[in-house]
Order: sequence, then structure tokens, then C-alpha cells
Amino acid sequence: MPPRAGSSASRMLDKFKDECGVFGIHGHREASRMTYLGLYALQHRGQESAGIAASDGEMIHLSRAMGHVADVFDEAELTRLGGTSAIGHVRYSTAGESQLANAQPIRIDCVHGPIAICHNGNLVNAPELRDELVGEGSIFQTNSDTEVILHLYARSKARAFEEAIVESLARVRGAFSLAVLTRQHLVAVRDPHGFRPLALGQLDGAWIVCSETCALDLIGATYVRDIEPGEVFIAGPDGTRSLKPFPPALLAHCIFEHVYFARPDSYVFGESVNEVRTSLGRLLALEAPADADVVVPVPDSGVCAAVGFAEASGIPMRMGLIRNHYIGRTFIEPRQSIRHFGVKVKLNPVRSILDGRRVVLVDDSIVRGTTSRKIVRLVKSAGAREVHVRISCPPTISPCFYGIDTPRRSELIAATHTIEEIETFIEADSVRYLSLEGLLASVNSGRSAYCTSCYTGRYPIPVPREEDVHLQLRLRPVVEEPAGE
Ligand code: SF4
Repeated sequence: MPPRAGSSASRMLDKFKDECGVFGIHGHREASRMTYLGLYALQHRGQESAGIAASDGEMIHLSRAMGHVADVFDEAELTRLGGTSAIGHVRYSTAGESQLANAQPIRIDCVHGPIAICHNGNLVNAPELRDELVGEGSIFQTNSDTEVILHLYARSKARAFEEAIVESLARVRGAFSLAVLTRQHLVAVRDPHGFRPLALGQLDGAWIVCSETCALDLIGATYVRDIEPGEVFIAGPDGTRSLKPFPPALLAHCIFEHVYFARPDSYVFGESVNEVRTSLGRLLALEAPADADVVVPVPDSGVCAAVGFAEASGIPMRMGLIRNHYIGRTFIEPRQSIRHFGVKVKLNPVRSILDGRRVVLVDDSIVRGTTSRKIVRLVKSAGAREVHVRISCPPTISPCFYGIDTPRRSELIAATHTIEEIETFIEADSVRYLSLEGLLASVNSGRSAYCTSCYTGRYPIPVPREEDVHLQLRLRPVVEEPAGE
């Protein structure tokens, strides 16, 4: 068999994928470089494309490419971008849609002047709006939902640019945390439900917005506050102003930002991700104890919860799985089959910790179950006597329509299997999840402020009907993978 090239390391572990990170800065003489660094800190939110748009007050210059931030930009490109205001974006995209045309920022020139936009989230009514706009003669350049906002903006008869932005956004439904750049202004907007995070910071008098506070830390900026749900924040030569033009809506912060997506050194929705994630582990140990010798996290995302689990259970935590951080975007697979090769590229078991031990394996999710099974097999292959899997959130039973790339409902193992069936499928001695109550008890702002749709199937904004029907029609059992995987 010829070597298989092009396996994407980012897809090797079966996780929900974040779709984007955004950054914006206004009033800094090194705006493009600061944006580059900000995107560097947000790289975990999207690894397939990166882009920066910068304004020098007259023109908006754009640079986008497929790849990681460090590979996309060099000194010459950042110098070419220049400017004192800039926005930037990192993007993960689903298979088949990973084209440069869909990379952001998206820039257009229209009756209101040049404008560039970066979007984190997903608009649930974008297909309807797109059909309507195409029917009226609009020509779309991308198949991204974000472009809908720009078409609505370009057609707006409003005189002031901020009125045109508000008018366009009043027509979209769903999740949007936006960084928008005009010649003179940086505009940050968060949808009224507040699905995705967006933090506001300051550095040497410049204003900064970013998906997570870890981007502020890297450039030495001070966190000021979160952009509020439904807020339009504008920074320009005339200072800053804040509008609240949309009707209030039920808050729906994405709880999965705390469970998995955000970096543990970030604050999102006003809370430390590290503290929330550690608390999830503590509660998990109380709700689902295990008679075991060692707590082992699935790195990196299971580490904080494993710390909490070990703390509450009194069982020592050891790093029994080591993650390889240096896998390129693609690699060449071996000609000969190697046992557990796929998962071994990312994780390797430490025999001295696992051999002969009863292991509590702490992870943040089981999506399809196939990766979990490979990891359980890997731990057992290193001599573990028992493997008790503990998951720091409830079973994932529904897809996300608000900006997270998830498999269809039919592919989510917890949507189609009982806990006992999952135990059998992933070959664990036991599997337990944190309860929804435990999950919500770990965040200070409480049950009503969070979206938990992927655990409950109850959506704060109705999901597109056709999509729902499609998901239901595709319900089927999880397909066994070929032996030897
Ligand atoms: S459905 Fe899940 S992943 Fe999507 S916004 Fe809600 S909590 Fe987050």
C-alpha cells in the first residue's frame, strides 16, 4: 500500500472543533504586528487559515492565506500591511470548505467605503438571507455565512456606517462576535445572546478586542471588560462609544468554551477557564467516584479536570499519556500497519505509570467514541489493569448550530447508545459523565446564562428546520471502524 500523505493532525483526535478566533486593535502604531501576536495566542481556535486587514486611514490592506499564523505572515508582509488599526482572524473550517476564498477577514468596497469583517459564530438564518439576496441580484464570492452581513451592509440606505452595521445585524439570527474595520474605526459587536466570548482591552491608549484574554496577556494589554451581549462598541478618532441597539434576548454563553475550547489561562464570560474546568473535575469525582490507583488526564484538554478529580478523590494524578505537540499539519503514514498508529502520533502512554494500575482516565468529551476507544486500548497496551473513563461534562447528544463544528446527531455516540453500550464500545471498565447540574454548578453566573444545547437538545434559537429533518433522517448506529485502527 502506498504511503498515505495528507492526514491532518488537527483532525486526528475526535473533538468538537472551534471555528474561529478574532482580534482587533485601534490606535496603535504597530497594529498589524499586535494583531499577528494576538492571533498567535488564539491559534487553538482555528488552524486552517489566518488573515489580517489593516487600515492606514485611507485604505484597508488585506493579507490572508491557508495555514498557521506563524507560517502565513512574515516581517515583509506585516510591514506591507502597516496601519494603526487592524483586525485579524484564525479559522477552522469543515472538510471540503477549506478554501482561501472563505478565509477571513473578508473585505469589500461599497457605497459606505471600504470595510473588512471577522466573525466568530454561525448565523442560523444565513441560507434564507443568502437566497433572498441572490434572488435580488447579489453575487457572492464565498460560501461563508459572514458574507451575508456585508451584502446587507452594502445595500443599507443608512447614512452613518454604524447605522448600516446595526441595520444589517438586525436581520441576522444566531451567534456572532465580530471585529469590523473601516478606514477610521474599529467596531466590535456581540450578538444579544452572547454565545461567543469577546473581551475588551487596552494597551498604551489603544483599544483591543479579542476572543480570549490570553491574546491580551501576550501583548501586555490590560483586560477592561467583556463586550456585552448585544453591544456595539466603536473606537475611532473621536474616541469610543457604545450602543445597545438590539432587543434584549436570553443569555446563551457557550458552556463548551469552559469545558474544552478556550485556553485555561483565559477568562471567558468573566470567569477563569482554569478554575471552572478544575471545579468540573472536583464535582465529577464526587458524582462518579472510581476505585483506582492513579488519575491520568487525556492531554491537554483533560488536565485541569484531572487536577480537580485528583484533589477531590485523593487519588494521585500522573501524566500517563504524553502528547506530541510538534505534528505538522500533514504527515506521511507508514506503509506497514502499526498498532494504534493514528492516536500514537498524538499520544504515547507512559508504561512506568500505567503498568499494573487501575486508571481513572479523565477527558472532556466522547464525540463518536472511536478516539476514546483508541486511547483506552493504548492505556491498556501499556499494562493498565482497569480503565475507568470519567468525562467532565454530560453526554453530548446534539449538534451545535452556533459556530462549533460538530458531527451530526447520528454520529454522536451518546445520542444513539446507552452508557453501558458506550462502555462496551470504547472497551472501558466503566464510563461516567458529569451531570448537567454539576456542569452548571461550576460556573458562577448560573444556569440561565448558558447555552447547553449540545447536552440537552434544547436550542435557545430555533435551528433551521430542514437541517433538523436532515439530522433526524440520518439517525443510525455508530459504524464500527476497521480492525487494526
Ligand atoms: S450547542 Fe454546545 S457547543 Fe454550541 S453554543 Fe451551545 S453549548 Fe456551545
